[in-house]
Amino acid sequence: MTEPLLSVRGLVKTYPVKGGALQRIVGTVKAVDGVDLDVYPGEAVGLVGESGCGKSTLGRAILRLEEPDAGSVWYDGTDILTLGAKELKGYRRAAQVVFQDPFSSLDPRTTVGDSISEGLRVHGIGAKERARRVADVLELVGLEPYHAKRYPHEFSGGQRQRIGIARALAVEPRFIVLDEPVSALDVSIQSQILNLLKRLQNDLGLTLLFIAHDLSVVEHLCDRIAVMYLGKIVEVSSRDILFDRPTHPYTEALLSAIPIPDPTVTRERILLEGDLPSPLHPPSGCTFHTRCPIAVTGVCDTFSPELRSVPGEPDHLASCHLRTGEYTHLDRATV
Ligand code: SF4
Repeated sequence: MTEPLLSVRGLVKTYPVKGGALQRIVGTVKAVDGVDLDVYPGEAVGLVGESGCGKSTLGRAILRLEEPDAGSVWYDGTDILTLGAKELKGYRRAAQVVFQDPFSSLDPRTTVGDSISEGLRVHGIGAKERARRVADVLELVGLEPYHAKRYPHEFSGGQRQRIGIARALAVEPRFIVLDEPVSALDVSIQSQILNLLKRLQNDLGLTLLFIAHDLSVVEHLCDRIAVMYLGKIVEVSSRDILFDRPTHPYTEALLSAIPIPDPTVTRERILLEGDLPSPLHPPSGCTFHTRCPIAVTGVCDTFSPELRSVPGEPDHLASCHLRTGEYTHLDRATV
């Protein structure tokens, strides 16, 4: 069986919370709480959840843009959390990122060509080769080589995101984290960028981790999908299984919110009560129990469910006492 290109184990990232007039540390927030995740070569994995669930922090920790508190991040057989600055340079070339807001991630006083070639310069690529590479990647993302001489403000939002993608591609990475790359764009432009990413993934054999807050965005691009809630992955499976047979009640609610482009088909919307709880004071037991429509008092508010296989589906994992048979004494007929 193919080995994962990226393997995350027990990843934890906490932040101190300061308060009072003296801004003393009054607590900690666990933004990522013991996450395990595998990404196989050439696949696109979607990481989906509400704002504040920890998905962007996880993406940044995988790239070592944030230093995790615990756990490991294995990339191509090496735990990148153990690498020193020199060895990390190779990983920086292999693993790139595309950010949500293309405008703020581009220096307004730097030409597009210089922005794209910055990474190449860091990796010691000469001027002639840099110019050739900039022209190549601009064409790859649907722009023209002469755009290299222009500044970010001369482009539309969609074009700027193409530039962000070109900048990531310039160093010929194998793995790219896409952190909400279409959230800031109009719907019509979103589909163009998603189609571009799909084409680039196929043509260049890229491995992608696509972070989004909306399942409909990852539906057409991703082979597998992981759903996050309050710092933990609560369900992960192939895209088809997740859309056909969602198991975790949170995934069901996210799916029910996707509009169906057919007026003759109706889907019952599952409305979750309340907002995402504060990660400063996460609920006891299953952290979803305060919003879960099928929570069982005495079980869900007391015991934390493990991420385990759904019965009969070894590659479909979910963390729910009732849906994975963790508590078989419960009356499943009521679920
Ligand atoms: Fe809902 Fe309980 Fe399952 Fe958590 S463990 S998702 S609260 S049924």
